[in-house]
Amino acid sequence: MSRDLLPLADARAEASTLDATDALREHRALFVGAESPLVYFDGNSLGRPLRATADALGTFVRDEWGGRLIRGWDERWMDEPFTLGDRLGTVALGAAPGQTVIGDSTTVLLYKLLRAAFDHVHGADPARVEIVVDRDNFPTDRFLVEGIARERGGRVRWIDVPRDGGVTASDLSSVLGASTAVVLLSHVAYRSGHMADAAALTTLAHDAGALIVWDLCHSAGAVAVQADAWGFDLAVGCTYKYLNGGPGSPAFAYVATALQESLTQPIQGWMGAADVFAMGPTYAPGAGMRRFLSGTPPITGMLALRDMLPLLEEVGIDAVRAKSVALTSFVVRLADAWLAPLGVEVASPRDAAVRGGHVTLSHAAMRDVTARLWERDVIPDYRDPGGLRIGLSPLSTSFAEIVEGMAAVTDALRAPGDR
Ligand SMILES: *Cc1c(COP(=O)(O)O)cnc(C)c1O
Repeated sequence: MSRDLLPLADARAEASTLDATDALREHRALFVGAESPLVYFDGNSLGRPLRATADALGTFVRDEWGGRLIRGWDERWMDEPFTLGDRLGTVALGAAPGQTVIGDSTTVLLYKLLRAAFDHVHGADPARVEIVVDRDNFPTDRFLVEGIARERGGRVRWIDVPRDGGVTASDLSSVLGASTAVVLLSHVAYRSGHMADAAALTTLAHDAGALIVWDLCHSAGAVAVQADAWGFDLAVGCTYKYLNGGPGSPAFAYVATALQESLTQPIQGWMGAADVFAMGPTYAPGAGMRRFLSGTPPITGMLALRDMLPLLEEVGIDAVRAKSVALTSFVVRLADAWLAPLGVEVASPRDAAVRGGHVTLSHAAMRDVTARLWERDVIPDYRDPGGLRIGLSPLSTSFAEIVEGMAAVTDALRAPGDR
């Protein structure tokens, strides 16, 4: 019934035009599973693998690991966290080389950078004790802030945000002051998809004498970040979401050149030391981004980036973002036509300029709906309370896939008697 506004056949026809004119349409076939009818709406939690990666992993095991053995470290692997980091910085983060490194998990890197930033500011001015974070930030971010505040004698300063929005300039201004040490914010909010004005918020933090750490988990690979131009201090993000790095692939850290030498991170391991193989009696931090490493880099975990970053470079992040906007806008349009009459609300910004790569659809029944969809090979994810997240990986999602998936959501939401 709710399809009266937009009949399924019309939506399919519209999708087929959008797919035919999509400048990035050919890239979908590069991903494993593109040919299957499965609808994948969770590329923002775990991106699909590239077909090239399936072959590259086998080659790596046979030739590079199996053939070069320990020599691989000298020949390539020691530099890999830096070379891949620089490439990622260039293609997706607006970061000049020498400021991005691939390291530990997002959680561990966030801990290291946030604590380093807190100690730096608090050390220079003991009155600066507050770490600012929003209540709707991802659990790991909030938990880390609480832990670091406790550990370092600091205090958490919370920002409240609406469920369908995110942190604005006035929200941040109202908590900044002479007690602020560090601010931790997500550029794209994991729940609502709200995209913060990172340049403006960074300037506000600096004007208040604080440092700011950006969580780029839901930005990297989906929206254009301009870390250098926006004056970022520090940033961390996942590689297994829109960067298709694979389950548990290591995160990246960005530290602005001007700050690197003045920061001390808390996990002092041999891989972050000035002379890794000196095996000396005491730790001296390495130059540049090396000091932010701790232990042996997880090389096997970063292999997929060797394939994904050149692809992103070829396509260009601006083209990726343009497709992302078209995909999320199409979802909003279908949600208005098909789901609003069933009581579903769009819990993401309607203005594409402040929306990242996913759309959250809110309804009390969404937990059950998600379970029903998974049984039908339609894979979104669910975030309490009542949020169905439609994640749209720009390079691997088609408009036709969106129509089939949104039609399935509509069916799953209708009471069994309606069908
Ligand atoms: C996905 C995500 C994380 C995940 O951290 P891990 O250490 O990789 O588990 C952290 N923060 C945000 C905002 C995320 O979206």
